[in-house]
Amino acid sequence: MKDINALKAFLDTPKKVIITTHSNPDADALGSSLGLYHFLKGRGHDVDVITPTDYPQFLHWMQGNEEVIVYDDTKADRIKTMINQTDLICCLDFNGMGRIKSLGPLVAQSPAKKLLVDHHLNPEEFADFELWDKTAAATAELIYDLILLLDGKEEITVGIAEALYAGIMTDTGSFKHNSTSAKIHRTVAELMDIGVDINRVSRLIYDTNSLNRLRFIGYALMEKLVVDAENKVAYFVINAEEHERFHLKSGDTEGLVNYALSIQGIHIAAIIMERNGEVKMSFRSVGNHAVNDFASQYFSGGGHKNAAGGISDLPLDETVEKFKSLIPNFQ
Ligand code: 5GP
Ligand code: MN
Repeated sequence: MKDINALKAFLDTPKKVIITTHSNPDADALGSSLGLYHFLKGRGHDVDVITPTDYPQFLHWMQGNEEVIVYDDTKADRIKTMINQTDLICCLDFNGMGRIKSLGPLVAQSPAKKLLVDHHLNPEEFADFELWDKTAAATAELIYDLILLLDGKEEITVGIAEALYAGIMTDTGSFKHNSTSAKIHRTVAELMDIGVDINRVSRLIYDTNSLNRLRFIGYALMEKLVVDAENKVAYFVINAEEHERFHLKSGDTEGLVNYALSIQGIHIAAIIMERNGEVKMSFRSVGNHAVNDFASQYFSGGGHKNAAGGISDLPLDETVEKFKSLIPNFQ
């Protein structure tokens, strides 16, 4: 950790703190944010969580969910004032201002100190305090480490522990990905000792599908999955009409790409979809195929070696053509 003693000294007196995380927050983003939120509040700081966009219903069970401020244009002035008047901005589970949409310019120009806690490659240099580790499986793992560095283990409540566990469980793919270390299992053991009911958290995240979502997955697998066996690539293209037809909500397409990757012999999987007026892409791979490099080179994106995402500024059909033309290089 860069400057832990400086951070400790800084947090010695009550501060105004804003916690933010990447757009379309997932369980790691929200769990890290709410975990840190409760911890810092417990220490007497005045804390707010602001997300750049909304997030899926299956995360709403987390303690503190109703306190989260979700950015939208009607709140822009109020949020700008908050960001300008805060003492510290905690940037969790992202490391570039492009990942927080309209909050990016506001955070970048704020005079507040910045704390970065993250596990993505190539962080931009904006933080005064930094806990960055690309070998960490989840930002939630690093929030746990941070709390220990701040001598706060005894202050971890069940609500904090559940939020952190949710981030760890999902970012490790339920303890399957390469990033799943012995250390993270030890962290989880400690979270269980604090009182996390792992079955409860798992059911809240994975077993609260809407019927629409399941029907959509069935449709996508049946009608939309394209397999390029020669290049070992499989992908889905989902358009705006399909989003409407299946009443898809934030989070409903999450996990779909993994079905494509699960096909025997497939090494790289993608989903290309029109969502909220933009074309968003998700990439997954096995082994040495670095999809983050591919995403950053061609689709203004990034992420991890085996899980990355990006955005296209072309319409959906032109994006698909571009993607198809790149497939032979995508190895
Ligand atoms: P997902 O496909 O689940 O949305 O994201 C997979 C990984 O890629 C996550 O680590 C996420 O942070 C990263 N990622 C997703 N979309 C983008 C993007 O547009 N830009 C960057 N830099 N990273 C992204
Ligand atoms: Mn993460």
